[in-house]
Amino acid sequence: MKCVYCGSEMKKIKTSVSASWGKYKIEIQGVEPYVCTGCDHKMYDPEEARMIQEIARGYADSKLIEKPEFLNVDEVSDLLKVSQQTIYNMLKDGRLIASKIGREWRFNRNSVERLFAPQAVAARGNTITKNDLDIIDSLLGE
Ligand SMILES: [Zn+2]
Repeated sequence: MKCVYCGSEMKKIKTSVSASWGKYKIEIQGVEPYVCTGCDHKMYDPEEARMIQEIARGYADSKLIEKPEFLNVDEVSDLLKVSQQTIYNMLKDGRLIASKIGREWRFNRNSVERLFAPQAVAARGNTITKNDLDIIDSLLGE
């Protein structure tokens, strides 16, 4: 299989993905995405992508975990396991919503959790578009 971005060969690897809320962290092991040998782009099997999303969403939805109502850039980038630059990019393209208070951005927890909503993947039936994969990539840390 060739990478859709750079055309390099893609290899199936075994890895794990994780998500965290505050002091809690879950890790899903045995995930097998294809990873580009050229640009590191990851591609998940649609079924596997949905499984990861379901688990992450259930975790984010848990009423038993105490969660702050507002998050700063640090906390959001830590939560999503992406760089702060990615957070700013997601702000720019509207995937994340935040308010600037003084010089600091504050993210509503709900707007972050919305990223885990099943419609991001499932609403299109069994078809996962490149946009869906980008969303999943950004959730999983590029
Ligand atoms: Zn590539």
